[in-house]
Amino acid sequence: MHLRPDARRLINYLHELPHRPVRFCPWCDATDLRFRSQPARQRLARYYCRSCRKSCNSLSDSPFANLHRMDQWAAFAVYLLAGWSSVQIAARFGLTSKVYFSWGRAVGVVMAEECAELHQWWTTRQFRENLQPPEHIERQQRAVVTWLEATLNARHARCPKCGGGQTYRIKGLRPKFKCDRCVTCFCTLSATPLTGMIRADLWVDFIKGVMDGQSIQDLKRSSGLGMGASKRWREQFLLLIEALGHSELLGWIVWMRSRRSNEVVSLVRQGGCLDMATRSVYPQGLRKGRFVSKQ
Ligand SMILES: [Zn+2]
Ligand SMILES: [Zn+2]
Repeated sequence: MHLRPDARRLINYLHELPHRPVRFCPWCDATDLRFRSQPARQRLARYYCRSCRKSCNSLSDSPFANLHRMDQWAAFAVYLLAGWSSVQIAARFGLTSKVYFSWGRAVGVVMAEECAELHQWWTTRQFRENLQPPEHIERQQRAVVTWLEATLNARHARCPKCGGGQTYRIKGLRPKFKCDRCVTCFCTLSATPLTGMIRADLWVDFIKGVMDGQSIQDLKRSSGLGMGASKRWREQFLLLIEALGHSELLGWIVWMRSRRSNEVVSLVRQGGCLDMATRSVYPQGLRKGRFVSKQ
């Protein structure tokens, strides 16, 4: 595995952290420590401070104090820096989510203290904040929006039945046309994943939200659709992006989606609350979404 040089330094540091010599008391900085004991049951040597009458070991003042399985911390940091997800790492080491988060927090604190540059590199990738799309992704995003707007606003189309160009657009938001020669109506969306979708006025904003990695809840809140419709629309637009051949954009959406979910999780952990949806495209009334009991 290829690692940055400062990552290697961090891993060595974590490897040697439990075995570093204790020279002074972490509680009162006194130096007259007395070696106390290392019974077989205890993992680290304990020292006794005569000035403050407390005992300590080599981890007492580190973020790893009271954490178990010290021989695996360095390997844990390797997987963390290699970009494995929390689920993958927890399964690999047999950790519960609580232990995973205490190890991750401890590694983060040590990294911030020992290798500040590495910590900066890692946090921008880990928490995925303030990410601007790279140039080729931005071009693909613009291409998708342009395709959608051009399809919705097209004035002419070629008839799929007779191939004639003498067609007239039928009034409405969906691009429906009438062919003069063979007297048929057709819609240019018929062969695309957008077939059968209504409310074409919401599409452009919706697909921009999908490309920004918004969750179903976010899309529901901004568009005013219901949960089911938001979910279905998102899938249909993802199919459209795939059909247009922008596979890198799909990877970007997965990435942005995990960034957004990270953002929401930290907001909720800090006691925040997401806004409720305030608008809806559906007619509102007493019978909406509930049973009306007979009086
Ligand atoms: Zn002391
Ligand atoms: Zn025709």
